[in-house]
Amino acid sequence: MKNILLIATGGTIASRPTEDGLAPQLCAEDILSCVPSLAELCHIDALQLLNIDSTNMSPDNWLAIAACVKENYFRYDGFVITHGTDTMAYTASALSYLIQNSVKPIVLTGSQKSIYDQETDARRNLFDAFLAAQDDALFGVMLVFDGRVISGTRARKMRTKSMNAFSSIDYPELALLRDGRILHYIRREKPTGLPAFYDKLDSRVFVLRLIPGMNPDVLHLLLPHYDALVIESFGVGGLPCYEQEDFLAAVHAWSAQGKPIVITTQVPHEGSDLGVYQVGARAASIPGVLQAHTMTVESVVTKLMWILSQTRDLNTLSQLFYTPVAHDLLRFE
Ligand code: ASP
Repeated sequence: MKNILLIATGGTIASRPTEDGLAPQLCAEDILSCVPSLAELCHIDALQLLNIDSTNMSPDNWLAIAACVKENYFRYDGFVITHGTDTMAYTASALSYLIQNSVKPIVLTGSQKSIYDQETDARRNLFDAFLAAQDDALFGVMLVFDGRVISGTRARKMRTKSMNAFSSIDYPELALLRDGRILHYIRREKPTGLPAFYDKLDSRVFVLRLIPGMNPDVLHLLLPHYDALVIESFGVGGLPCYEQEDFLAAVHAWSAQGKPIVITTQVPHEGSDLGVYQVGARAASIPGVLQAHTMTVESVVTKLMWILSQTRDLNTLSQLFYTPVAHDLLRFE
């Protein structure tokens, strides 16, 4: 039997009704006691790291989760992290950069309904997460939800209420879980060597969603407060060139301070391609302007936080940004 560590952090799965709405109240042992069949699957130790709504999750919390996995890495065969669904995709992405080259499965899961709710998806998701965490063919950071195994860098919460809350964005699901069995869609080669753990993030990253007619002054206002800016632009990507070209001038101001700007898209699928239109190509020609290509916004944000904690040199930063980690960046060959 495999040894798996449960790291509980809160979320709906651990919630109960309170006077002012659902809030995490159940501890790791309460959660485990709702799925007695887990005892036949693997040996489980449980650790209560946090008990918060994931709306309150912060980069410091991501570092604490990564440190907890690091501290226990050689004692366990796999890890299950219970977590709120609202920011689970950000945590999955952040952990994919903070813990690299892991041969062991590190599985995030949660639920749309409390584990104490009659109609809950929690019991199934929890069982599936442990099934994935003790599987020999799965490894690295993953999210398990509604019978799907999704790579940590590709997950996105797509539905606020339905059980199939998460999708794998522009990348196949790694595996499917049905009736206690795993169907592997992708057989990936396991990493060799030791895992690499990182313990720093620079949280001074801002995401700006463009709307038609946006005043470019907002870029100047943000500049003193942030080390990187992610602009969710339109279509394959571009920046508005209104009559005075103020937008491009504001981007130049970031570039002059050695702060990167990453252009991504508001369109949910297929990523950016700045070379297609003049509005994109002109922006891309400004030093320090990068593009997301097929990376999700969750991955872009957390990758920037990880990279900025290591370097401020724009060339090194750009090299690291375009180096794929855990399937975050896919390109046509
Ligand atoms: N607000 C909850 C959370 O993210 C939602 C959930 O877990 O489904 O913690």
